[in-house]
Amino acid sequence: WKNAPPTLRDVFLNGRAFGEREFLINDDERVTYEAYALATITLAHRLAADGVKKGDRVAVIMRNLPEWPVTFWAGILLGAIVTPLNAWWTGAELEYGLADSGAKVAFVDDERLERLVDHLPNLPALERVYVSRLSAARGDPRVSRLEDVIGKPNDWSRLADMPLPEVAIDPEDDATILYTSGTTGKPKGALGTHRNMTSNIMASGISAARNFLRAGQPLPESDPHKLPQRCTLLVVPMFHATGLSANLSPSMNAGGKIVMMRRWEPEAAMKLIEAEKVGSTGGVPTIAWQLIEHPARSKYDLSSLTAVSYGGAPSAPELVRKIVEVFPASQPGNGWGMTETTATFTSHLGKDYSFRPDSAGPAAPVGEMQIRDPADGVTLLPEGAVGELWVKGPQVVKLYWNKPDATAETFAGGWLRTGDLARIDEEGFLFIIDRAKDMLIRGGENIYCVEVENVLYDHSDVMDAALVGVPHKTLGEEPAAIVHLKPGGTATEAELRAWVRERLAGFKVPVKVVFWPETLPRNANGKILKTELKKVFEE
Ligand code: ATP
Ligand code: MG
Repeated sequence: WKNAPPTLRDVFLNGRAFGEREFLINDDERVTYEAYALATITLAHRLAADGVKKGDRVAVIMRNLPEWPVTFWAGILLGAIVTPLNAWWTGAELEYGLADSGAKVAFVDDERLERLVDHLPNLPALERVYVSRLSAARGDPRVSRLEDVIGKPNDWSRLADMPLPEVAIDPEDDATILYTSGTTGKPKGALGTHRNMTSNIMASGISAARNFLRAGQPLPESDPHKLPQRCTLLVVPMFHATGLSANLSPSMNAGGKIVMMRRWEPEAAMKLIEAEKVGSTGGVPTIAWQLIEHPARSKYDLSSLTAVSYGGAPSAPELVRKIVEVFPASQPGNGWGMTETTATFTSHLGKDYSFRPDSAGPAAPVGEMQIRDPADGVTLLPEGAVGELWVKGPQVVKLYWNKPDATAETFAGGWLRTGDLARIDEEGFLFIIDRAKDMLIRGGENIYCVEVENVLYDHSDVMDAALVGVPHKTLGEEPAAIVHLKPGGTATEAELRAWVRERLAGFKVPVKVVFWPETLPRNANGKILKTELKKVFEE
């Protein structure tokens, strides 16, 4: 086992060294590391025969399936720039992603082909489309069945062994284009190198060791071959940084097991946690909430869970208290990161997090952070002041693909402008206050949406809450809330407004509270779609 894999090819080899250990679980499909490696190498040779060369873009557009990492690493082994696209996108959006990246080959599943098929004539650069789980044949001569190349997941162990394709890969070579979630605008493709991805894996390992020590836990054995296998329930899609870089890749490097779900459903998740003895669920805060609040939770044995951690979106301080109460054997964890930082950039665990339930932890040991004046993007602010967060480190990407303007606005002197408002305390812990674009200004007074949302989450009837700005003639904007109540919750608009008024300054009290019948709409990364919710008030 090599401690510091310089490229994603080395991560692949580290994974293969786990041989007959199980790696990917999807319903009744169980794939070992060796079977996964055989399928990946077989596919890499086919891609080489198709003419895929170093630097070519290879798109992966599938829901979470065992084929996903196979297609991803087949591209990686050839030195291609692998471009996962959001499987939730429409046909037109997929056409944008394929045209923007200039993909030569795309891997899709049956559902995605259905959406894409009418757009294929507009994509002349796309030479071949491999489809997994194809039910009906297609007329387009570019479309082939992936199964014809590698067979079905449960048969991958019988594929012939071949040497790895001979391609020299340098750590500074480009490896991935990962699209941002599109919460504040059109998704941007962050161009990541092998170094970015592997630095992220190393940083997460070093951070975990630090977080364990700080939590007063004994440091686990450093050689994963001697450790009991860790099992992660993958509740987020692999096409975003959280799934690919924070869960799949580090797990593969350390011989972990990944259990996939067709789509997130809390009771199905609890069944899997019990059956597979899942140790951690890496996802967004809502997922932890839904497990905690589920009426059938006590029916399942969830004692295998040793970590309930999340990141990617603001989480109410109330959540960590609940985790400690409901999962006493688990370490609660929180982390902050962006697609542009490859994945998690700050994190903490256990007591550290319980003491600072509104913090996302200190930076990984390889990362630097600064708080600068948002007005000029240059002046450093004093310790503890709220300003815009800038970050730097080997896991931070250099640019956005095909977007020189956005690149110039975001990357400067090796630093990345995050667009998040934050402060850092005297011990280096990061507190995300809000997205700069989310903050409201009501008649000159700043309102941080997250602060008001957290107070709403503190109310025992509230399951889900979002604060948005609604236009006002003289004040510019006013705060309004959209709330989804827990089953049996009875809070009224007047009660919730009074609740906020007792805890925050009057100008922060929502002028209106609208009740939403279900969980608030979110994008694939679990972020609340505030642009959609604002329309409620326009109506
Ligand atoms: P886009 O950049 O396209 O608008 P996005 O910023 O949502 O979308 P991501 O890269 O997936 O795309 O998300 C990064 C953002 O998620 C961060 O900038 C931050 O606003 C938010 N975030 C991540 N982790 C946390 C956290 N622990 N607490 C609060 N916010 C977080
Ligand atoms: Mg962003």
